[in-house]
Amino acid sequence: MKPAAFTYHRAHDVRESIELLTELGEDAKILAGGQSLAPMMNFRLARPSALVDITRVTGLDYLRHGADGLRIGALTTHRTVETASELAGFDVLPRSAHWVGHYPIRCRGTFGGSIAHADPTSEWCLLAVLLEANIVLAGPRGQRTVPATEFFHGFFATAAEPDELIVEIHFPEPARQAALTEFAQRQGDFAIVAAAVRLSSVDGQCTGGRVVLGGVDPRPLVVDISNALDGAAVTESTWDAVGELVAGQLDPPTDAHGSGAYRKQLAATLVARAFAEAAAR
Ligand SMILES: Cc1cc2nc3c(=O)[nH]c(=O)nc-3n(C[C@H](O)[C@H](O)[C@H](O)COP(=O)(O)OP(=O)(O)OC[C@H]3O[C@@H](n4cnc5c(N)ncnc54)[C@H](O)[C@@H]3O)c2cc1C
Repeated sequence: MKPAAFTYHRAHDVRESIELLTELGEDAKILAGGQSLAPMMNFRLARPSALVDITRVTGLDYLRHGADGLRIGALTTHRTVETASELAGFDVLPRSAHWVGHYPIRCRGTFGGSIAHADPTSEWCLLAVLLEANIVLAGPRGQRTVPATEFFHGFFATAAEPDELIVEIHFPEPARQAALTEFAQRQGDFAIVAAAVRLSSVDGQCTGGRVVLGGVDPRPLVVDISNALDGAAVTESTWDAVGELVAGQLDPPTDAHGSGAYRKQLAATLVARAFAEAAAR
């Protein structure tokens, strides 16, 4: 398949990107790594009238780790995150990157593109919600920040306006005990279910935790496990119990990839597995 006709525009900086988006109207789309948009255009699931290519915009490709957390420029590739070292406290990001597509996709696809695309099983979307990241948007009305917990509105739908550009994803708080795991039918596929968790524990006792699931809802789903972990022992049986508790709260959809019941079972297993991995950190 070939895409429907569109006009092509190359932006060189953030200001020019915003000017082009404003001028071209809401049927224009940003082109970053093209790893989601190009297939969607080829299948004619997306028919933008114009593309604003931001791949040569300068100053949006960075990982900055400092006292105020981790800042990731929107054009940073998945591969750059995967190979980053010295991200103490945020190393769940490089550790999870291998789940994102295949190597060539990771070399071209961008962190900002994944967040903007808002696939509810996207690893970066899940981790942004898990770690309570902030999404920084630039537009004709200036810059604004939206918490990741409010950014995702549904399948491929976000709080970003058509004339806004994601410029940065800011992770304010490190999470030393965090893990993401998932199940997909083939290596590199989007997950059927993915589980991202963080844990806090002291002297073999849990003091808190957080669970975010993909593949069970149109958005990355935060599951309430309040109090379930407080004071519980750091053991396999705790993780199994939390997995069951999480699954009991889900009502996932049935589709060609699996039934709702299958997804619930996967969620129980993956949550337990993710907590075991987080606890080992
Ligand atoms: C075979 C295959 C398997 C894949 N598997 C996975 C997977 O397992 N997990 C996963 O997470 N992803 C997967 N992907 C998708 C991949 O991660 C993409 O890189 C990512 O979804 C989009 O990033 P991109 O830079 O390619 O964005 P593009 O494809 O260029 O754009 C995607 C969307 O985001 C918008 N956009 C891009 N950048 C910005 C920005 N800075 N501000 C505002 N809007 C923007 C575009 O307008 C478009 O609507 C897969 C892709 C393929 C082809």
